[in-house]
Amino acid sequence: MTSTNQTLFDKSQELIPGGVNSPVRAFRSVGGTPIFFKKGLGSKLWDVDGKEYIDYINSWGPMIVGHAHPTVIKAVQEAAANSLSFGAPTGLELEMAQLINKLVPSMEQVRLNSSGTEATMSAIRTARGFTGRDKIVKFEGCYHGHSDGLLVKAGSGLLTFGEPDSGGVPASVAAHTLTLEYNNTQQLKDLFDKTGDEVACVIIEPVVGNMNLIVPHMEFLQTLRELCTKHGAVLIFDEVMTGFRVALGGAQALYNIKPDMTTLGKVIGGGLPVGAFGGRKDIMQCLAPVGKVYQAGTLSGNPVAVTAGLKTLELIQAPDFHAKLTAQTQKLVDGLKAAAKEAGVIFNAQSVGGMFGLYFCEKCPTSYHEMLQSNKEHFNQFFHSMLDSGIYLGPSAFEAGFVSAAHTDEDIANTVAAAKKVFSLIK
Ligand SMILES: *Cc1c(COP(=O)(O)O)cnc(C)c1O
Repeated sequence: MTSTNQTLFDKSQELIPGGVNSPVRAFRSVGGTPIFFKKGLGSKLWDVDGKEYIDYINSWGPMIVGHAHPTVIKAVQEAAANSLSFGAPTGLELEMAQLINKLVPSMEQVRLNSSGTEATMSAIRTARGFTGRDKIVKFEGCYHGHSDGLLVKAGSGLLTFGEPDSGGVPASVAAHTLTLEYNNTQQLKDLFDKTGDEVACVIIEPVVGNMNLIVPHMEFLQTLRELCTKHGAVLIFDEVMTGFRVALGGAQALYNIKPDMTTLGKVIGGGLPVGAFGGRKDIMQCLAPVGKVYQAGTLSGNPVAVTAGLKTLELIQAPDFHAKLTAQTQKLVDGLKAAAKEAGVIFNAQSVGGMFGLYFCEKCPTSYHEMLQSNKEHFNQFFHSMLDSGIYLGPSAFEAGFVSAAHTDEDIANTVAAAKKVFSLIK
C-alpha cells in the first residue's frame, strides 16, 4: 500500500525541486520518504496518514513552548483580525525591541526582519560598513543561513581566502570569507597575527547546532573575544538557534561573553517568520536611514509574526522555564545514553539548555572534523527505527535535536523505551 506521504512526495517532486522547500526536509541524508504533517499539539505531531509522533525537531527550534500553544494561537488570531500587514511602524515592534534589549542587553539597538538568513546577512553588511573592511571569518560546520558570503568553505590556503561551498556563489565573493576550525584557538591566533587588522567581523554559533551539537571551549570563546577587541573586528554571535533556547539570555548569558552584535531567529518568531539583528549602538547607527548601510524589508516587523514572537517570549520568562527545559533535555540524554550502554552500542549524547546532540562515537565531538567520526550507518538505522516507533528526530546525523516545554516525563520515558529496542537491533 502506498502511503499518502509517498503520494504527496512523488507529486511534489514534479513541481518543487526535490519535493521540498528546504533541502534537509527531503531525507536525502537518511534515505526514505519525508513525512508530510497536518497537525501539531504540544509535543506531538500527526502526519497525513494520522500517525502520531513525539517531535524532537520543533520546526528546528522555534516551537519552544510546544505546537499550537493556546496563548500564542489566541494572540495571533486577534492580531490577524487587525490586518496582516501595514508596511509601517507599529507599537508591537517597539515592544519587541524593548524585550530583546531586556533579555539580551548587549543588543543596545535592534532591527527586525523575517529570517535568520536575513539577520546574519545584514549583520555582516553592517559590520563591514562600520569597520570599512571586507574580510569576514567563520568556522567550519557552523551554518549562518544561505547568503553568498556565508556558503563558503576553507580554501587550500587556509588563512588566505575561501572557496564557494555552493553552486552559484562567485569565487570573488567567497574569497573574502575565511573559514577556521571550531574550538581551534591556535588557528584563531595565527589568523589574527597575520591579518587581524583587515577583519571586518567574526561570525560564530556560540554553541553549534548545525553540525549536530558542538559545545565551545571557554578558552576558545574568550580568546576570540579578546582578539576581536584588540584588532577592532566586530564579534557577531549568531544566536538564531541558541537565542532564548540554551538560556533566557542565550549563549552569551550562559558563558558570560558579550558580543558586539547578535543575530536572532527561530524562537523569536514562535513559529512565524521573524529574525533580528542588533548590538552596539555605535555599530547599529551605521544602518539606513541614519547611516549609509542599506537594509530593508516589506514585511519586516510584521504585526502577526511579531505577536507570535512576543507571546512566546512572554511564556518562556515564566520562573524556572529554562531550568525545567534543561532538566528535561538532560533526562532524555541520560536515558538514551543508558539505553545504548545496556545494548553495547558505541554512542554518546549531551545537551545545552533545550538543545541536544546524539553521536554514534565514543566521545562528544568538539569540531566538524571530529563529528565526521560519528557512525553514519548506525545513525541512519537508529533514525528510521525511531521514526517507525513514532519518534521524530532530525533526518541527518549532522542536526541537533530540540525539546520543548510541552515534552512530558511520559514522552521522555516512551522515547527512551523505544530507543532501548532500537539500540538492541543496531549492529
Ligand atoms: C537556522 C539558522 C540560520 C538561518 O535561519 P533561517 O531562518 O533558516 O534563514 C542562521 N544561523 C543559525 C545559527 C541557524 O541555526
